[in-house]
Amino acid sequence: MTFIKPNRHIEKVFIHCSASDYPQHDNVETMRKWHLERGWQDVGYHYFIRKNGQLDVGRDLEKIPAAQSGHNKNSIAICLHGLKKELFTKKQFESLIDLCKLINKAYEEQIVFRGHREVSDKNCPVFDYQKILGLSNFGEMDFAPNAQPTENPSNIYQETLKLTSRGAAVLALQKLLNQKQQIALVEDGIFGQQTKSAVMAFQEQKNTAIDGIVGPVTWHCLTSND
Ligand SMILES: [Zn+2]
Repeated sequence: MTFIKPNRHIEKVFIHCSASDYPQHDNVETMRKWHLERGWQDVGYHYFIRKNGQLDVGRDLEKIPAAQSGHNKNSIAICLHGLKKELFTKKQFESLIDLCKLINKAYEEQIVFRGHREVSDKNCPVFDYQKILGLSNFGEMDFAPNAQPTENPSNIYQETLKLTSRGAAVLALQKLLNQKQQIALVEDGIFGQQTKSAVMAFQEQKNTAIDGIVGPVTWHCLTSND
């Protein structure tokens, strides 16, 4: 990872999240496509960090981002893929820390790190970027960064889930069911009867085995676009 200062003046770095947990959206190209569809010149962010920690380069650093309405000038915008706080990964936070350290060093610490939510009523990013980056109240990287998220959801879409399962994968499942089925399951990370019924209804709709158990086939159906 390298960072070279652009020629335009930079004062702030803004952190964002993509507001999606879908694996098929986990790349800067999807984001670029959406932003081009809005009539923008390019993706709004300069960097995009995938769930596996990979850093995708977005908009040219010489260009002002389209990311924080009214606060784009003199800024760099970084977006992490994710919606649910629990589903961001340690690898993503490690990449974010590495990138921000490089930027901080390049500007000899004369730069501040902000969350989009500080200049917007959007809850973006949803994770505790201040703790992760070790920020002071002024947005300076003054303290030790900490990349440890609440839970480590590696292979979250591969875990087999059934009645009484618990944890981040169940939460991801409930979130996906609510999105896909337009229902209102309680998103509590606990696989109860309601979740089981919703899984079975989904399986029936997809013409797969109706067993209420979320294995590879059901995960695939849940995380694909159709
Ligand atoms: Zn944002």
